[in-house]
Parts: sequence; C-alpha cells; structure tokens
Amino acid sequence: MEKEIVSRNFIEQIIDKDLAEGRCTTVHTRFPPEPNGYLHIGHAKSILLNYGLAQEYHGKFNMRFDDTNPTKEKTEFVESILEDIRWLGADWEDRLFFASDYFEQMYEAAVKLIKKGKAFVCDLSAEEIREYRGTLTEPGKNSPYRDRSVEENLRLFQEMRDGVYKDGEKVLRAKIDMASPNINMRDPVIYRVAHLTHHNTGDKWCIYPMYDFAHPIEDAIEGITHSICTLEFEDHRPLYDWVVRELEYENPPKQIEFAKLYLKNVVTGKRYIKKLVEDGSVDGWDDPRLVSIAALRRRGYTPESIKQFVELCGVSKAQSVADYAMLEYCIREDLKLKRPRMMAVLDPVKLIIDNYPEDQMEELEIENNLENEALGKRKVPFGRELYIDREDFMENPPKKYFRLFPGNEVRLMGAYFVKCVDFKKDENGKVTEIHCTYDPETKSGSGFTGRKVKGTIHWVAAKTAIPATVRLYENLIDEEKGVYNEEDGSMNLNPNSLTVLENCQLEPAFAKAKAYDSFQFVRQGFFCVDSHDSKPDALVFNRIVSLKSSFKLPKQD
Ligand code: ATP
Ligand code: MG
Repeated sequence: MEKEIVSRNFIEQIIDKDLAEGRCTTVHTRFPPEPNGYLHIGHAKSILLNYGLAQEYHGKFNMRFDDTNPTKEKTEFVESILEDIRWLGADWEDRLFFASDYFEQMYEAAVKLIKKGKAFVCDLSAEEIREYRGTLTEPGKNSPYRDRSVEENLRLFQEMRDGVYKDGEKVLRAKIDMASPNINMRDPVIYRVAHLTHHNTGDKWCIYPMYDFAHPIEDAIEGITHSICTLEFEDHRPLYDWVVRELEYENPPKQIEFAKLYLKNVVTGKRYIKKLVEDGSVDGWDDPRLVSIAALRRRGYTPESIKQFVELCGVSKAQSVADYAMLEYCIREDLKLKRPRMMAVLDPVKLIIDNYPEDQMEELEIENNLENEALGKRKVPFGRELYIDREDFMENPPKKYFRLFPGNEVRLMGAYFVKCVDFKKDENGKVTEIHCTYDPETKSGSGFTGRKVKGTIHWVAAKTAIPATVRLYENLIDEEKGVYNEEDGSMNLNPNSLTVLENCQLEPAFAKAKAYDSFQFVRQGFFCVDSHDSKPDALVFNRIVSLKSSFKLPKQD
C-alpha cells in the first residue's frame, strides 16, 4: 500500500494540538487588512493561509477591515481589496466586517479596564511618554498620573470622548508594568484623542483605539480561534494576551506569527510603490511590472498560479526570500495545458512564396495545444504572402542556425516546407522581403516522409493578419545592483523593464480576444490581453512570462 506522507506546517501542528486538547472545537480565522493601499503577493500568502486553514478544518473565514486608524484609510481601497480577495477565491460568505463597527464595544472594554484599575488617563505629552518609557537596557518610570482614582479616570475618559481635549492632550494607557523587559508592556497607550473624520463612522468619534488594544478585541468579538499575523507582532503577543485576559473573554483567541513573504529584487512596500506611481515610473498600482494582486491579474497571472507559488514557499517562522523565477515557473505550469498555442509574429518581415498562386488562400487545420487534445483545432489561413519573425532569417548564419537562410529549407509550422531563394534589403541593409518556394507535397499531416528539415518556424498570413501591440517586461529593478541605492536610498530601476512592440502581426483567431484572455504565442511565451489599453480593433498584449525558465523545482523526498 502507498503511504501518504503528510507534513504539517507549524501552524497546523498548533491547531491540531488545540483541537485535541479541547482548547477550541472549531477553527475560525480572518484576514484583517488596513484599507490603506492595494494588496500584494505577500498579502495573498496571508489570505490563502487563513482561508486555507478554515477550509482544511471545515471552519470559518472572516473578512475584516482593520480600519481603526482614520488618517490613512480610503474607501477606494476597500473595493479594490475585496475584488482582489474574491479573485483569489477566498470566500468570506456573509462575514464581512469593519473594526470601526466595534468602536462602541472597544470603548466599553476600555471602561471595563478603568473600573478594574487596569487603565488610566495620562496627561504626559508623546515626547514625555517616550522619555518615561526607558530603553531596552533600562526600566521605565511610572507616569505621575498613574495613580488617578477610578472615578477620575472614568470622568476624564468620558471627557476625551466628548471632545473636551485637543489631539495629544490626553491618552488612555493600560496599567501594566513600567519595568517589564518587554517595552510593549510598559503602560502602552490604548486610546488617543484625534479629531479626524473616519471613512465609516464620520465625526462620531474623536478618540480612536490603538492597534494593539483593538485587534484582540476584534478577534474576540468575532470568535476568532487563531489570529494569524506576521513576525513583527511577536513581541506584541504578551500585550495581546493581556488584553484578552483582562477583558475576560470566554474563548480567548490565540495569536500565531509566521514569516512574511519577500521576493528577491521586487518592491512590495506600499511607500515605495506609491513613489513609483507618483513619479510616473510605473502606470499606476496595477502596472504589470508590480506584484500587487491587481498588477499580477492584469499581467495575466491566475489565482491557481499564485496559490501554487504560496504553497511552494511554505509557512514558517524563518525569514526567507523567494525568487521571482519561482512565481514564473508557477504561471508557466498553470497555463501550459490550459491555453491555446497560436501564432504571433512580434518583429515581422515579409516572406513571399514565389510559386504559390497569387490570389489563392487555403485554410489549414492546426491543433490548439499538442499536449491537450481537448482544446481542439482551429483553422489558420495560409497564402502567398506571410509574415515571419525577423530573427528567423539570417543572411550569413552561424553554425547550428537551422532557421531560414539563402538556400536553406525549413518547415512553416502546420503548413509546408519552404526554401529560401532570394531576399531584398533597403539602403540601410535591413531585410525587407524574403523570397521562397514551397513544396506542395510537404503539407503537414499529409504523411510526407521524402526528406527532413531541421528548423520549424511560425508565421502569419499577411492578408488576414491582425496588427497588435505587444509589451515585453523585465524586472523593474536592476537585478545586478539590488533594490536600493546605498548612497541616497533611491531605487535602482532597470531602464529596460518595458519594451513596447508596435505593429506585431497575429493570426486572425485572435480577433475575439478580450481583456484578461491569455494565450501561448508559439515559441515565445504566454501573453495576456491588457485590461486597460486593449480595444477590439487595437489589441494590446502583456507578456506574462517567456517560455524558458532558469528555475528548477527543488527535489522533494
Ligand atoms: P505593507 O507593510 O506591505 O504595507 P501591512 O502589513 O501594512 O503591509 P496590512 O493591511 O496591515 O498590511 O496587512 C494585512 C495582513 O497581511 C496582516 O495580517 C499582515 O501580517 C499580512 N501581511 C502583510 N504583508 C505580508 C507579507 N509580505 N507576507 C505575508 N503576510 C503579509
Ligand atoms: Mg499594517
């Protein structure tokens, strides 16, 4: 019998144990983005991890906007984030929440802490609070306001809510331990005064809870069992646990941290992407050279390929950096069998078949994907004048060049053998026409075995060709130099990250291509119809990935 080896990641091991020991009876996870930017490939990891765990344990997955900080949040991002998550296939069913809907409960929670003597209103300025906090090696000092009575604290906190105080004049702090070795536990601020309009609650509130106080409450209210976040929150876990414990929730959620996903030589930080967008280095947040989810979708990535990539990266506590080539490997593998392979000439030069009748056109039947019969066949027109790619002809070829050159014969893919008999050049030496003769006996599929040729090239019949614009991409960052310039902190951009090819020539089967449709252009790579700029009579394609790969899947034992 075959033995299935199932390796469980460390989060699954924690959950297995919690279930076995009865700490929880179901699994309930959430994805809690701040609506302050577009999601990127790293967020995809978090989404798919949280949603995947809910599915695996037949539990639930919540979508929750962590919108407790009104300064940076925008409704525009709410929509784009939901669209991205839906596209990735994570389903929150009817559980879409906003942390700002819990402001009243958070306020009540703060009042509860005050009543327990576990929180106090503090008049120190932000700078003074920093001074009193101490350092990693020295303990902090108690605030002079730490021993205010419960009654006074309740009154002052109510006044904070009522708008009596200006921004920064007073804060509410948890009363924990100014000598704690963990600085997060030294009487952290849990509420601040901020006279700001919130995208959801408008001007109802002028006090806002801090993340470390708000997040565990949000999790507890929603019945989250495992609150999965990234490593930078590890040192905040004692505070998370303190909040949950002091508020006496019945089924306390558990925070688990994992390492963020990073891609080598790829920019993911919101701050940097914003700069690229603002200085016009890229065409918006979804420029196909970026790795926001919207950009990957526009480029032609599929949810399946992203899922595969995230799975290959694995889940761990150790910081690691993945190669972009691995992401390319995943999309190539995903599209290989799913998409038709059609002919597109990116740098066209005319090929004229001198012995083919002037007005004749014929239709050849060509398989859409030799490795997947289910994709069927299509009709491809063939005639006397064709386009081939400029690099498939050479006047003076080097050794081992098996494509067209004077006197050489090649196969036109799915059609006939043609032999180069002549060519023309313009005054700059650029080839303008290639003349061939064809052999009608050699038609593909006719069973011809008379002789063999070493090269097969693709082509498009000139009369029925569709012109198109094709964009080729390289890494946005100069990989030799790395992301940031050490001297001034600027980004090392690759000047060749975008190449636009106008007037490419495509076979007529592309006529119906619409936004997000993707294809293999034979011998070249995978391409996707651009969702912004493509029009039915002026198609624009983005290269998703070329066919060749430098990435090898590591051997698994
Ligand atoms: P960024 O630093 O890129 O702006 P963020 O952490 O501020 O991202 P949030 O909206 O707070 O963005 O993140 C939502 C969730 O996604 C959090 O749980 C966060 O830990 C997780 N997350 C963010 N970046 C990554 C990443 N690179 N890999 C895995 N998870 C991530
Ligand atoms: Mg954040």
